[in-house]
Amino acid sequence: MRSPSLSVTCRRMSYEPVIGLEVHAQILTESKIFCGCSTRFGDAPNRNTCPVCMGFPGVLPVLNRKVVEHTIRTGLATHCAIARQSRWARKNYFYPDLPKGYQISQYELPLCTGGHVDVSVDGASKRVRLTRIHMEEDAGKNIHDVRGDHSLVDLNRAGVPLMEIVSEPDMRSPVEAGDYLRTLRSILEYLEVCDGNMEEGSFRCDANVSLRPEGDEELGVKVEIKNLNSFKAVEKALEYEIRRQGEVLSEGGAVSQETRLWDPDAEVTRAMRTKEFAHDYRYFPDPDLLPLEIDDEWIGEIHATLPELARERRQRFIDEYGLPAYDADILTQRRDVADYFEEAVKAHDNPKAVANWLMGDLFRVLKERKLDAALRIESWPVAAGDLARMVQLVDESTISGKLAKTVFNEMLETGKDPDAIVKEKGLEQVSDTGALETAVDEVLSACEAQVAEYRAGKEKVLGFLVGQVMKATRGKANPQMVNEILRSKL
Ligand code: ADP
Ligand code: ZN
Ligand code: MG
Repeated sequence: MRSPSLSVTCRRMSYEPVIGLEVHAQILTESKIFCGCSTRFGDAPNRNTCPVCMGFPGVLPVLNRKVVEHTIRTGLATHCAIARQSRWARKNYFYPDLPKGYQISQYELPLCTGGHVDVSVDGASKRVRLTRIHMEEDAGKNIHDVRGDHSLVDLNRAGVPLMEIVSEPDMRSPVEAGDYLRTLRSILEYLEVCDGNMEEGSFRCDANVSLRPEGDEELGVKVEIKNLNSFKAVEKALEYEIRRQGEVLSEGGAVSQETRLWDPDAEVTRAMRTKEFAHDYRYFPDPDLLPLEIDDEWIGEIHATLPELARERRQRFIDEYGLPAYDADILTQRRDVADYFEEAVKAHDNPKAVANWLMGDLFRVLKERKLDAALRIESWPVAAGDLARMVQLVDESTISGKLAKTVFNEMLETGKDPDAIVKEKGLEQVSDTGALETAVDEVLSACEAQVAEYRAGKEKVLGFLVGQVMKATRGKANPQMVNEILRSKL
């Protein structure tokens, strides 16, 4: 039996979480990795299949060049070394969604090794090293809940190209893990190599986590968590698992190396199977595929077309447009949002106003219309040029800031351009002195009591009187002019 004092010491011991992530990103290609079948999501089951991806005997895989190009692009953007020669390997296991009995992957010689991703965590910069990025094919999908007592297999996904991006165990908290994932997804989106859609499974993550006594160098026993379908799920599952392992260790127990599944409804992880090891898979070089040779010229070409990524763009938005860091952060998280912003600012040079409209109203609408999960600029309700023109109308005092909302909503509903809307609805601001003086006179004679209060020194009443004039002009009066006229008349 443990002595009470020992158990107290154990309970007081503090542990440091250690986290490493394995991301499977679907590479954006029209066709699969080793055959010509479509990679489209959501088609009828088994529609996008052929003898190659169904694993018929005697067929031969033919490598899709785009898959390699996109993986090199990702490797370069994350500062990896690109192997001039890499190799395809068979990873052998049995499962009904894997008709060949093996998955074509890379094992000993992956295409990319040893890069890193810089992540901002709470304003500080944190470097997460990458172990490797390799290419592989996806498996099919077993469907269990359609026909009572038997399961079905859909092979549309079989042979869809994936990149597996493996990090070193460099993260120390669930928040860091979440920030790393968001940064990585943003990089893939900027590179246009993956659409980053977690719900549709084109960006998936397995999380590895262990605890070790604070100050220790040696890594503790890790648990791998699967079934993480959102960033929130990753963070919550890690929090749960850190707590669970902490309790096991504090009670003097040992964490067992295993794979656990996240249950998003119960918000717990459950043991799925004991850990499998590499030797269980009997990896060996695939005899159907030649070693992959990459020449410097191709790498150079890809390197020359690398786009500016979110981190650099964020800094440029601060320097070039004078945006606050917060705005620059939000506007550069996605490439299409940043593109939209820059297009609007090119049309009318008022970056802060454009940023405000984007971050406020446009994002709200996108969310309401569920366009934010898969942002595609073509499907946005308001074109960048129209948003810019609307801001310009406000800046030129053609419409009031308040009525700009009306114009914005109308653009959303009808897709018309702002000039047409202003004209049609008669929203032009009244800046004509004569008309405004008449309106002010009418208000002054109707509000004698307030006028008296103002003259007795109660200056706050001015706001009320301005409001009355605005009301009388249905919001179209130029408020600054109303203010001046009122003051002079009072
Ligand atoms: P496995 O052989 O189980 O696949 P790997 O060494 O390939 O393990 O690592 C898989 C992932 O787990 C990597 O992202 C790595 O950073 C992470 N990892 C490895 N060891 C630990 C550990 N002790 N604690 C947390 N994460 C770990
Ligand atoms: Zn096929
Ligand atoms: Mg591994």
